[in-house]
This record gives sequence, structure tokens and C-alpha cells, in this order.
Amino acid sequence: MNVASILKVKGKSVATARSDDTVQDVAQKLASRKIGAIVIVGDGGHVVGIISERDIIRVIAEQGAGGLGKLVGDVMTKNVMTCSQASTLDQMMSVMTQGRFRHVPVIEDGALVGIISIGDVVKHHIAEVEMEVTAMRDYLATG
Ligand code: AMP
Repeated sequence: MNVASILKVKGKSVATARSDDTVQDVAQKLASRKIGAIVIVGDGGHVVGIISERDIIRVIAEQGAGGLGKLVGDVMTKNVMTCSQASTLDQMMSVMTQGRFRHVPVIEDGALVGIISIGDVVKHHIAEVEMEVTAMRDYLATG
């Protein structure tokens, strides 16, 4: 199983914002779309950062409600770990576990073509394990 097959099921739409949006703008987008992270894009749509609910909690913990007025560019993570559509489920699990984050933007030929969350990874991993168990049971039953 790879990222391309996950995107085939979930679609390629990605929520994005810009560095000069406020944290409040992004918090509203996260809440209305019921998602945990937003990719920050620059001119030409290339990825310049990512901001997740954790970054927003951190800025509020440090600065109180005033943190909501800060610019996304000052709060986001700039060194974004990305993957390609050829990346495997195992690679995604390892990248997310080692990096301790739950979202990975998918880049193809320099363009943002999707995002994979830990929820997508877990869902497809369970489906894969269930298929293996079914195949093993069939083999034992007929063998
Ligand atoms: P998350 O688990 O996705 O809520 O993110 C936890 C922390 O990791 C936050 O500070 C995010 O900005 C950061 N983060 C999320 N995704 C990535 C990524 N793909 N590459 C680098 N940092 C990330």
C-alpha cells in the first residue's frame, strides 16, 4: 500500500493558508473543516510551512488570547517533512513516529497534491492487516 492508493480513496484536496494570515484565521479554518493541520503555501503554491492545533495551543499557552493575533509565519513549523505518492504506508508510519507529528503533505513535481494524516495511515494499516488475516484464514481453511 502506498500514498497514491490512500489519496485515491480520500481525495487530493488540501486545506491551505498563507504566512500573513493570523493564527485566529487558521484556528477558524481548522474548526470549520474539523481537521488538525493546515499547510502554508507561498507564491506559486509551494509549501513554506505547516501549522497544527498543537502550535496554536503552544502560542496561546505562552501569550494568552493575544497569541491569536500573531501571524502564521511566526508560529508555523518551517522545516516541513513531505512525502511523494510512491511513499509506502510503512515509510509514513516511521516518518510520523520518528518526527512525532501526525500530518505529512504529499508533493509531486514540486506541487502540493495531497496530505496524509495519522488517521489515514491507521485506517489503511488496519484494512491491510484485516486483508492478510482473511487471506491466511482462507489458506488454512482450503489448504
Ligand atoms: P501534529 O502532530 O501534526 O499536530 O504536529 C505536531 C508538531 O509538528 C507541530 O509543531 C507541527 O507544526 C509540526 N508538524 C506537523 N506536521 C509536520 C511535518 N510534516 N513536518 C514537520 N513538522 C510537522
